[in-house]
Amino acid sequence: ATPTAVMVATGVGANNGVLIKGGDALERAQKVMFVVFDKTGTLTQGRATVTTAKVFSWMDRGDFLTLVASAEASSEHPLARAIVEYAQHFHFLDESSTSNDAEKQIKGSKFSGWLLDVFGFSAIPGKGVQCFIDGKRILVGNRKLLSESGVTIPIEAENFVVELEESAKTGILVAQNDTLIGVLGVSDPLKREAAVVVEGLIKMGVRPVMVTGDNWRTARAVAKEVGIQDVRAEVLPAGKADVIRSFQKDGSIVAMVGDGINDSPALAAADVGMAIGAGTDIAIEAADYVLMRNNLEDVITAIDLSRKTFSRIR
Ligand code: ADP
Ligand code: MG
Repeated sequence: ATPTAVMVATGVGANNGVLIKGGDALERAQKVMFVVFDKTGTLTQGRATVTTAKVFSWMDRGDFLTLVASAEASSEHPLARAIVEYAQHFHFLDESSTSNDAEKQIKGSKFSGWLLDVFGFSAIPGKGVQCFIDGKRILVGNRKLLSESGVTIPIEAENFVVELEESAKTGILVAQNDTLIGVLGVSDPLKREAAVVVEGLIKMGVRPVMVTGDNWRTARAVAKEVGIQDVRAEVLPAGKADVIRSFQKDGSIVAMVGDGINDSPALAAADVGMAIGAGTDIAIEAADYVLMRNNLEDVITAIDLSRKTFSRIR
């Protein structure tokens, strides 16, 4: 392709909200054999919502939700936001509650007042959060987080988590000191176009892959829904780039599509890194392409554009 053709293609991309950082990236995209998708926020809407909360202790439901929301309040994770919103909704917007509308609004507007004091907060990437409330250690996260901290998960709680995971939800476990006290189920629906894009890539001869820090059972359920067979789950943030490199071993050209801080090493390691425009700045910086419309159809647009620009034999 001539420099003019590259310039034209870059312009066409920009008009469609596909920002291409340079001619090399544009050229590599035509040869992509694998597209590795991050799950949360990339294939899914990234708008997690709590669908169920089950208390496995003597604790009052409201107190349980306040405790969990307090622990998650300083986390930036989408799951944390979903939990805080759910608890807030339970306390202030519940139709069945006795307080009147005005009272709810007053409470809601200074909602930070209802959270408990938290000490020693730490976020454990790919696992959850830990902190101390009322002198007790609180853990909110996945099985790995709890088992590594010496909390045993009772069979009825484990069964409940499995049930959630088989319906494509993420189970979040909550422990107080060494005791499991509750489980929350979080759902994050697929983007509307996700399955069509996956099908389109397969038709183009490109193999879709899903990578996630989430557990295997949820990952498989989501992958099945979207039509992806090749799944890598329970990948810690640092491991996503290794997944990319494993696909590159035989010389395959690999694209990565992601949105999170977690995804930036993988976006950089990929031959073609594509960041979702609504994603974090760090991901956008690490990528070769930015998909400004946050629409996965633009993954196909980007590959098509490269193929059309470079396949012409003059
Ligand atoms: P992904 O790769 O899907 O974006 P992450 O690596 O961010 O996922 O997290 C992996 C898993 O770790 C989550 O599915 C969840 O079980 C747990 N986790 C991470 N952060 C939190 C948090 N703040 N609260 C609860 N669970 C969390
Ligand atoms: Mg993500």
